[in-house]
Amino acid sequence: MNARRGKVWLVGAGPGDPGLLTLKGARAIGSCDALVYDYLASQAIVDLAPPDCERIYVGKKAGAHTLTQTEITALIVRLALEGRRVVRLKGGDVFVFARGGEEAQALYAAGVPFEIVPGITSAIAAPAYAGIPVTHRDHNTSFSISTGHEDPLKGFTSLDYAKLANPKSTTIFLMAMGNLTGIVGELRKHGLPDATPVAIVREGTKPTQETLVATLATIVAEVERTQFAAPAIVVIGNVVNERESIRWFDRAPLFGKRVLVTRPPAQGGDFAQQLWEAGAEPVLAPTIAIGPPDDPAAAAAAVARVRDYAWIVFTSRNAVDAFFDHLAAGGKDARAFGDVKVAAIGPKTAAALGARGIRVDFMPDAFVNEAVAGGLTERTAAGDRVLLFRAQEARDVLPDSLRAANRTVDVVAAYKTRYVDDPDLGDKAARADIVTFTSASTVRGFVHNVAGAASVLAGATVAAIGPITAATARSLGIRVDVVAEEFTVEGLIAALEAGVTA
Ligand code: SAH
Repeated sequence: MNARRGKVWLVGAGPGDPGLLTLKGARAIGSCDALVYDYLASQAIVDLAPPDCERIYVGKKAGAHTLTQTEITALIVRLALEGRRVVRLKGGDVFVFARGGEEAQALYAAGVPFEIVPGITSAIAAPAYAGIPVTHRDHNTSFSISTGHEDPLKGFTSLDYAKLANPKSTTIFLMAMGNLTGIVGELRKHGLPDATPVAIVREGTKPTQETLVATLATIVAEVERTQFAAPAIVVIGNVVNERESIRWFDRAPLFGKRVLVTRPPAQGGDFAQQLWEAGAEPVLAPTIAIGPPDDPAAAAAAVARVRDYAWIVFTSRNAVDAFFDHLAAGGKDARAFGDVKVAAIGPKTAAALGARGIRVDFMPDAFVNEAVAGGLTERTAAGDRVLLFRAQEARDVLPDSLRAANRTVDVVAAYKTRYVDDPDLGDKAARADIVTFTSASTVRGFVHNVAGAASVLAGATVAAIGPITAATARSLGIRVDVVAEEFTVEGLIAALEAGVTA
């Protein structure tokens, strides 16, 4: 029925940090209609698939209800023969102990076209995130990557331990945790010195990354003592000593912190990405959602009259989006503004306007209504008509001060925020190290959902994007520990980095 020819992309997802996916991989995922993935793939990468893409989890974690390798291969062949654009997503690189070769051969045999998109392998990236370079001129001129899947204690291994026991080479093992005793025993038996440093990096490149450093003589006992578990990379060789100076990721101030993001998903994504980059683990828990205002006709009418205004003031990206949605619905675009002047309350709003081709005429230095009022009064004359296009529930400081200066002000609700009902919010917050509020309404949405909000937050660091958000929290009995100096998510992260000590 489907005339279109299917195709398969075998894509390496990278080791865990979603930022380590390749651009080519992201493009393939962004335009596929079936995504077949297993447990090493991060959710942020799976989320890049289009909304109508069929997502098929094939697991491969012990005990789960998942497909065998033969079934997975048959599945991707079948999907492609149905004419689908299939992405087969694999952790790390597709050809490093990932059976990508077998899948590609099956596609070839079935006459299905395919592409290989290599990924960053955990074998190199997990050590790198632990501050261990796999080669270093002072230590080695080669490194090897082996599977530790075969148990030398049981008498079967195809690995050449005499070669691996070379102190001038770095030896890396994947899947070695189950057989560590046997592997270490073989290396010692073949003459690798007991003092050789060994690092084991688990959950590499993720906020949950942990690194254990010991020597060949002590590593097995250390693993037992600390109950160090898979998935992990074992690195053996003198390069491990470089971690002391090169260690960076797990030194970041926000490393490993679980950070609750309460803003709506459309805006939360950006913030989450930046938290990842700071080494933190974002937990998306929106307390509010953006929707049409009670009176969308009023918003549409104001947009239709755009040229009647001397100035239009946008107080958020949402208002910009709503404005352009109304313009588009009326068959218009940015040209409708003519020479109407435009103000934005902050850089994010200005950037949203810029993306629509509108350069703002005024943006205050401090991103609060009071500063906008002052700047606008200076730039307008008595009798000038000003449109405030903003949230339905916004404060009245701005219109009040403009009216006091005899400007004609139309306040129009562009959108409305409503509370999201999330019965798990309290649990998520209780498990978070840091809880962020990026507007007064995110605080109210939190309190709306969580009984005894103040006590739920007692153990967490509470961070607010600015003084008004902080004041709202305090008025609701919530202690605030960190307030951003620049009222953006970047400013919030900077304040957290400066203020939070592990
Ligand atoms: N193709 C993957 C490897 C798949 S085999 C790659 O190139 O990375 C699965 C093994 O990879 C795990 O048992 C573990 O040894 C290793 N591994 C995968 N992701 C890891 C991570 N984030 N941190 C540490 N080890 C990881």
